[in-house]
Amino acid sequence: MSGDLDPLDWQDFETVAQELLERAVAQLAGAKDGPVWRPFPEDMQAEMQVELPTRGAGYEAVAAELARLLPYGVGNTHPRFFGWVHGSGGAASMLAEIAAAAMNANLGGRDHGAIYVEKQVVAWVRQMFGFPEGASGLVVSGTSMATIVALKAARDARINARAAGVGAHRLVGYASDQAHNCVARAFDMLGLGSDALRAVPVNAAFKMDIAALRKRMAADRAAGLAPFLLVGTAGSVNVGAFDDLSALADIAESEGLWLHIDGAFGAAGVLSEVLRPRLKGIERADSVAFDFHKWLHVNYDAGFVLLRDEALHRAAFEGTPDYLASSDRGLAAGRPWPVDYGPELSRGFRALKIWAQITALGTEALGAAISRNCAQAKLLAEMVDAEPSLERLAPVASSVVVFAHVDGDVVTEEIVLRLQENGLAVPSITTVNGQRAVRVNITNHRTRDEDLGVLVAAIRRMEI
Ligand SMILES: *Cc1c(COP(=O)(O)O)cnc(C)c1O
Repeated sequence: MSGDLDPLDWQDFETVAQELLERAVAQLAGAKDGPVWRPFPEDMQAEMQVELPTRGAGYEAVAAELARLLPYGVGNTHPRFFGWVHGSGGAASMLAEIAAAAMNANLGGRDHGAIYVEKQVVAWVRQMFGFPEGASGLVVSGTSMATIVALKAARDARINARAAGVGAHRLVGYASDQAHNCVARAFDMLGLGSDALRAVPVNAAFKMDIAALRKRMAADRAAGLAPFLLVGTAGSVNVGAFDDLSALADIAESEGLWLHIDGAFGAAGVLSEVLRPRLKGIERADSVAFDFHKWLHVNYDAGFVLLRDEALHRAAFEGTPDYLASSDRGLAAGRPWPVDYGPELSRGFRALKIWAQITALGTEALGAAISRNCAQAKLLAEMVDAEPSLERLAPVASSVVVFAHVDGDVVTEEIVLRLQENGLAVPSITTVNGQRAVRVNITNHRTRDEDLGVLVAAIRRMEI
């Protein structure tokens, strides 16, 4: 036995695996049952803490532990999970993960079946966003990583920094003050410094104020700085607002800027009749970062970066060390490889979950689920407006509704904490125009209209 790392009896293993699969399917099928979130019990926390195992417990013991863990997720598979921006996941990912586990493919490169699945996903994304035939793309962990990849291509398209470093560059970029922090983090990690990202104020609809953008850019140019990047937000994390992407595309064109769109959850709206008009202009972007794990409900993690200019994309990452030599024949054929388009060499088979989700469900059903969530956000806004004790803090642009209790910040926060702790619903807390807010984000294909009634009734019942 010692040194033998495969099951001694595959038949026994199959029995163990089948039992776990049954438990896993039951968990997902019963996603709406029970509390949205339950804290990880203290006894289980304690049991988790064991010495580094020197002797293995075997597959049956592992499967039993895995089954016990099943109920203690974030809660985002539940219909009343409304916190932050989480997708709710689905059954197609489970199938894909089974196959991926059996293949153990490394998607860094080379010529094998898994690579062709990712190529298909790239082609589909191109089609979704109306990008040209030659556009390139890469499956990544999420929008944070997608943003780093896109902005590195944008940086390297402007300055010669790959070998020389950024030196005394004077590059600056622009995003609204509602942009996700991942943009500033990318500026930091790319050596540009987060101060070089200008936070442009927004208007009453939480869209970038175009006049303010022009003014800031003119001032930067006058000061000898080099504007190179404009970031549009398609679905802001705080209130779900969409910048006017066509206006941004016009400015990027006339000012010679790279246009990047952060569409982490909102870009998926191209599949929805309700949201598609808001995304007009995205087809003119130089790069788009978005997630399959949010509003398209592929299981975590699955993000994507799409670039208009394949050559600029590759120029930012390509390198050919001796041990990665390619050939025209054999397993090392098929260059360029994913490693030529991003920072990761060894990569898992995330593309399979994406492929399985789109193949199993199709874009119509995925888009319809997005449209339904938008209608539900409007419905919730009406319910909030009808409550004398609640006050809405922003217009509903897509999936997000933010509101406060009239008694102030402390009560507003208490509402969220109690809802989370009693397991009835999980909204999150944010700040809108300086005021604490209950933030309900509905990127959840399991949410039914009744769930919104349950949420509002629970808030009404609270005596705080
Ligand atoms: C979630 C989110 C991000 C970050 O995406 P990850 O997949 O979590 O890395 C960036 N921008 C917006 C607008 C988001 O909602």
